[in-house]
Amino acid sequence: MKKQESSSVKTSEDKENLMDKIVSFAKRRGFVFQSSEIYGGFASCYDYGPLGVELKNNIKRQWWKSMVQMRNDVVGLDASILMHPKIWEASGHIESFTDPLVDCKDCKKRFRADHLLEAKGLKPGYLKEKPEAFSEIKCPECGGELTSPRTFNLLMKTHVGPVEDEASISFLRGETCQGIYANFENVKESMRLKIPFGIAQIGKAFRNEITPGNFIFRMREFEQMEMQFFVHPKEAKKCFDYWKPLRMKWYQDLGVKKSNLKFREHGRDELAHYAKEAWDIEYKYPFGGFNELAGIHNRGDWDLSRHSKFSGKDLSYFDAETKEKFMPYIIETSDGADRATLVFLLDAYEEIKGGRTTTTESIKDVEVVLRLDKRLAPIKIAILPLSKKPELEKAAREIQEKLRGEYMTMYDVTGSIGKRYRRQDEIGTPYCITIDFESLEDKKVTVRDRDTMKQDRIALKELAEYFADKFKE
Ligand code: ATP
Repeated sequence: MKKQESSSVKTSEDKENLMDKIVSFAKRRGFVFQSSEIYGGFASCYDYGPLGVELKNNIKRQWWKSMVQMRNDVVGLDASILMHPKIWEASGHIESFTDPLVDCKDCKKRFRADHLLEAKGLKPGYLKEKPEAFSEIKCPECGGELTSPRTFNLLMKTHVGPVEDEASISFLRGETCQGIYANFENVKESMRLKIPFGIAQIGKAFRNEITPGNFIFRMREFEQMEMQFFVHPKEAKKCFDYWKPLRMKWYQDLGVKKSNLKFREHGRDELAHYAKEAWDIEYKYPFGGFNELAGIHNRGDWDLSRHSKFSGKDLSYFDAETKEKFMPYIIETSDGADRATLVFLLDAYEEIKGGRTTTTESIKDVEVVLRLDKRLAPIKIAILPLSKKPELEKAAREIQEKLRGEYMTMYDVTGSIGKRYRRQDEIGTPYCITIDFESLEDKKVTVRDRDTMKQDRIALKELAEYFADKFKE
């Protein structure tokens, strides 16, 4: 069963095709599907398939673990998507949650004016400074003339209740953090928290994006992982400088290559209406290079002041020790679960020309290995009986039963063992267990490592301990 290893040759990274490859790979291997595909698809909405949901859940679990489970100063929350419409007035979203929209007068396509400026190397602030200069920019699709930019609100409207009138209008939340601000008092009181402390939340957000695209990079329905840290205004800068590198480290610790990540500070002219300081963590995507993956924002006292004003409830904080009353500043870390999924997929995807082994059965033009961190891999252990002989299948099923309480496993008995290894490599499974006829005699199995392809012969009674050690976090 052991295969002779050949020196593997990596293909040169074909960046331009990588995105197309990932999109078709994600569909073929059950990671991500276009929403409503049988009806021709529904623009910018995607469904996570059996392996995609595992990957995304693992990403969310790792985020929650690092932000909540491992800390004494952050607690969790799961607020509702629909909230009192006044929240969106207070937050400034009804007034300012807008993107500048332009239409092509010829081909009728719509674009974000700031994206067109960026593509020309101009800063977004240029639009405010010289609106007339926008006429120099032509449609990137057909070269046609564009309309003047007009603002377009990204909030998704809906009606709540049986009557569809002005009074029943509400919004699908445009960001998860507003549910945190609205619950600041509830959480503080119920958990007896003292500032500084944070509240973390994972959940869906909705934006009527003008130009969604690039697969799950920009969707109209997506998931955010946000944490709001409430601090004394004098501590805000220190707190910001503490969280900023931590968020970068999280991506790097989970395997994203350092060379594909960088920080970018928002210029004064692109800061959101609430922000005092903002940095993006950017990833080098195959489309258009470095672009936003996550953000760290100093939101000042904007949110709690505005909610105090609009709700009539004073959300300022009283420090019993210093007797000081103040409006807390908020340091926000904001990550997208879908963008993170895309980044982990892109970064882990590796093609190897000619395959990694020299047996004829596995020689192919290109072999794919998804080098996901073990913590993120959708399937942790594949169980592969060498043949369909009942005695082997019985032994294999027993092994699966022992492991599945702890690990996500997959049972596969079809095709040659080489092909089955390839299938698991392609979806990022870190370990495969092969049960052969010898296993029935010596009560040992072969465990193969995805990355090194090294094979260990492990006694059945030591298997649980062996994997506990391999998956130790
Ligand atoms: P962009 O500049 O790309 O529109 P943003 O600055 O509006 O993003 P934030 O409001 O800071 O984004 O949201 C925080 C995070 O939520 C982003 O860093 C991103 O990971 C994710 N996110 C935002 N909009 C979308 C979207 N339309 N689809 C998928 N993820 C998104």
